[in-house]
Formats: sequence, structure tokens, C-alpha cells
Amino acid sequence: MPLRGNVFRTSFFYGFQPLFTVAVLLAWWALPTRSDAPLETAAILLLVANLAIYALEHVTPDRADWVTDASDRKTDAFWVAVRVFIFGPVLQVLMVLSIEPILNSLNFPTLWPSSWPLFARIVLALVVAELVAFAVHVAMHRVPILWRYHATHHAQTKLTSARWASSHPIEIATVQLPIFLLVTVLGPELVDIAGAIILGRVTVIIAHSNLRLSSTPIGWLLTTPDLHRRHHMLGAKNQANFGDVLLVFDRVFGSFSRQEALRVGIGSGQKIGLRDQLRLRGIVMGSIDTEISIDLSDTVTPPVENTNR
Ligand SMILES: [Zn+2]
Ligand SMILES: [Zn+2]
Repeated sequence: MPLRGNVFRTSFFYGFQPLFTVAVLLAWWALPTRSDAPLETAAILLLVANLAIYALEHVTPDRADWVTDASDRKTDAFWVAVRVFIFGPVLQVLMVLSIEPILNSLNFPTLWPSSWPLFARIVLALVVAELVAFAVHVAMHRVPILWRYHATHHAQTKLTSARWASSHPIEIATVQLPIFLLVTVLGPELVDIAGAIILGRVTVIIAHSNLRLSSTPIGWLLTTPDLHRRHHMLGAKNQANFGDVLLVFDRVFGSFSRQEALRVGIGSGQKIGLRDQLRLRGIVMGSIDTEISIDLSDTVTPPVENTNR
């Protein structure tokens, strides 16, 4: 095992994901702007955290063949910028303006356990959002029209910490709308939502990163690079590890897998340009095969080709 005997690398292997996650959460809590603007403070901090991990991937990449070139970095910058500054905020504003007044007028009883300690409320908000996201994610792999939009996220042939953001706007709306409806009805505080966003986003950034990190023991709770690569695995007859952040629902519903993914992508595994990543919703279906069998009852087919890992 190449890491044995190297204390620093071994500590990084086992400790980076839990320590970095806790550090970002504590940094958010310590920032003076957090009490007045918890969501905005979280958004800026997450951008800084994403940049730090993106830089780290270049210093100590897990896979040499996934180190980004100039074209990859342009694509990554595009996805993070449009997700963080355009798709995310526009969708949020649309939902707040159009749906929130209707839900508020219905006067649902307040169900949120506001007396719980903050961390417990943050975890509860994350679990609620993840349950909805898990169900929608499975549906996106089973319903052809939804898969065509979700295929944009799976079109990546390398994973980097920026590629959590590479989702078609229709997919983002499909996931965020039911979460927004449920969360608005339950009525958590903004600070609970912001904390859950930090825990969730840091996990998805790390899960898409090209870092060599252990899936034990943190993989019992949160998804990791190895476990999320399995979800993106090329040639997988069955998809697995649908949880974006938590893996508890995969374990409960039998879609959890520790199988190593040597290649990621869709179709024949060819690199797909940015324009086609955005047009995958069927316009170019003739030239790009986005079909993936998603029968969870079958065994998994290993990838066809190997790489120079
Ligand atoms: Zn997926
Ligand atoms: Zn992903």
C-alpha cells in the first residue's frame, strides 16, 4: 500500500474529509456576518472552500489522468459560476416569489423542532432534503425524460471538485422544487438551512474531487470520492450510490456499492464538449448515446476498459 509509512499522507487519507467539513462549519459559525446573513455567508465560504480543494487537487491528485487541462478548467469555471451566481439564485428567487406566499397563506402548523440544539436541527434539515433528493435522483435515472437532463451531470469523463455544479438547469429545478416545498412547510430557521447547505455542499465538492481519501469510516455516513465515482461509473449496468451527501438511503434501499469505478461518463465514454453537455436533453441524442440500464435488481457489469491508473 503506497500510503503506508507516510504519516502525513495517511493522516490526509483518513482525516481530510471529516476535518475539512468540521473546519468549514466552524469557520461559518465564527464569521461575524453569519448571524445577520447566514445563507450569504455560507455561499461565500463554500466558494472559497471549493477553490481551496480545486487547488489541492492539482497539488496532490489521486488520478494523474484526471488532472485538468486549460479546456477542463474553463468548463469547470463555467459550471461553478453559472450554478452559484445564476441558476441557483434565479431559481431561489422564483420559488420564493411564486410559491412561498401561497404556502404561507395555507397556514400549516409549525412542525419544526425549534427547541432542539442547532446541530441537531442542521442534521434534521439535511436528512429531510436528502430524502427528497434521493427519491428524485433515482427517478432521474429511471424516467427517460428526466435522465436526458440528468445526463448532463453524468457526461463528465473526469471528476473534479468543480463538477458537482455541472447540472442542467432543468435538473436543478427538478431537485430543488420539492425540497423547497417540503422545507417551507416544515419551517426551519435560516440558520438551520444554511448549516445543512454547508454540510451538504462540502460533501458533494469533496465527493467529486480528484483526491485520494478514505471511505472508511466516514463512508458510513457521508459519500466520498470513491463512492461517488461508483455512481458516475461508465458501463455500469446498474447505478448505485444515489445519495448526494448521505448514503443511509442507499443502504436501506439496497443501492449501496463499494465497487471501484475505473472510468466515469456515459455512452461510449467519449469526452463531451461544454455545448453538448448543455444540449444533452435530446437535441443531440442521435450522436451521443445517453442510454443507461438502471435495473437495480441485476448484478453490476464491470467497466469494459481499464485506464493507466
Ligand atoms: Zn445520477
Ligand atoms: Zn456527481
